[in-house]
Amino acid sequence: MLNGTTAELVERKALRINPAKTCQPIGAMYAALGIHGCMPHSHGSQGCCSYHRSHLTRHFKEPVMATTSSFTEGSSVFGGMANLTQAFKNIFTIYNPEIVAVHTTCLSEVIGDDIPTIIKKSIEDGSIPAGKIAIHANTPSFVGSHVTGFSNMVMAMVNYLSEKTGTTLNQVNVIPGFVEPADMREIKRIAAAMSANIVMFPDTSNVLDGPLTGQYKMYPEGGATVAQIKSAGDSIATVALGHFASHVAAATLESKCNVPAAFLELPIGVGATDRFISTLANYAGVEVGPAIELERGRLVDLMSDLHQYFHGKRVAVAGDPDQVIAITQFLVELEMKPVYCITGSPGNQFEKRMHEILDGPVPEAKIKQTADLFELHQWMKNEPVDLLIGNTYGKHIARTENVPFVRFGFPILDRTGHRFFPTVGYMGAVNLINQMINVLLDKKDRECDEEWFELVQ
Ligand code: SF4
Repeated sequence: MLNGTTAELVERKALRINPAKTCQPIGAMYAALGIHGCMPHSHGSQGCCSYHRSHLTRHFKEPVMATTSSFTEGSSVFGGMANLTQAFKNIFTIYNPEIVAVHTTCLSEVIGDDIPTIIKKSIEDGSIPAGKIAIHANTPSFVGSHVTGFSNMVMAMVNYLSEKTGTTLNQVNVIPGFVEPADMREIKRIAAAMSANIVMFPDTSNVLDGPLTGQYKMYPEGGATVAQIKSAGDSIATVALGHFASHVAAATLESKCNVPAAFLELPIGVGATDRFISTLANYAGVEVGPAIELERGRLVDLMSDLHQYFHGKRVAVAGDPDQVIAITQFLVELEMKPVYCITGSPGNQFEKRMHEILDGPVPEAKIKQTADLFELHQWMKNEPVDLLIGNTYGKHIARTENVPFVRFGFPILDRTGHRFFPTVGYMGAVNLINQMINVLLDKKDRECDEEWFELVQ
């Protein structure tokens, strides 16, 4: 446990303790799994690939497939071209994917392997067979985070695949951000309920949350098809959800194929979901419809019913920047007080946006990018909170400080519900409320004096 964390704050410049992020290729590998028939490929040593696969497997509780260039000392000295060319031959011969999505690692980035040239030569010499595709993203882990890696791979999908033919299709692109398969499924459900025709990429629903059928399929039913991602260049518009994970790809599509983009935040809570739904309805030329309006009404009713439990509660939030920005707005809608908000990912936009959200309702809030969980813990020791929201790594702090804890974001290694219960949309907000109220009331039931131990809350 973290009983040794001191309350005394000491200025640190070049040291992170329990960083609130992980490395770029994990995000790139996750994004690649959202293409149908795709084999993610790690261009580096086996250890990196094993770590990234196992981290995703532990979060999603599903086996995650990926191949590796298996660097040795020789590749470290002479470069990884021979390894990647041989890898293409082996992958297409043995595993027969439709597409291979290559991401780099620290080692191949330090060497400086020129992946586009290797792909070009591999097409010329037949290592990538006719009709098959390889794309790549540079994902050096000494900059950015897993969110940057995700963003880079989605941008690679646009750069390599999306095309403008000149015939506009009646569809809207949705780039969902680094969210759960359940969230992607929920976005598709909302769009279908509104009769909005969308193309979503990446899409890991039915890839990492597929059914047990008794038959193993290396390439599950789900995922955006290559044809769909190609067609994104002919769409009416793009709705990009999350500055850090999705906006670069949408901007790339805008400049490459002249598809206008709406740059939104993750639709978590009432306001952000309103903005997503009205933007999608406008672009798709559809009505929001009574089914979605009913869901919104139920959420607002629930927020009103439970206001007494949430009002004024001090909350600490740690996680990926798009998620922290979105859930903080929802906490403010609930009139809670997000007093500590951190992300491990770098990016000035995080602090700028968080100040816009919090300077009015919670002027005392501490906001920090490129932060670590050690510092968050120190803040909590100095001035405690009523609730902690974050990924699994927050559980040590929650236990040490006896703070109710809601698991949210990536990774969640010690629970399973995140795969099935979305946090986006009005129904996602209901799920979040459910989790928060349960941990708050559980603590009260455990610790309150007997006269306050109520059967009805
Ligand atoms: S930080 Fe670099 S070396 Fe370490 S696992 Fe990630 S890609 Fe590999």
